[in-house]
Amino acid sequence: MAKVVNCPCGEKITGENDDELVRLVQEHGKAVHRQDVSRGDPLAMAQPAD
Ligand SMILES: [Zn+2]
Repeated sequence: MAKVVNCPCGEKITGENDDELVRLVQEHGKAVHRQDVSRGDPLAMAQPAD
């Protein structure tokens, strides 16, 4: 199931599955916020996307 994370900066990050979502959020965290994101955080913040 696709999931979306609404980043506090306003970015919406959508992944087709958990692995993709985590990867995209980690890339976004590094590129935009210069933060390392642990695997649990995107999954805890994720909401169903449809
Ligand atoms: Zn962001």
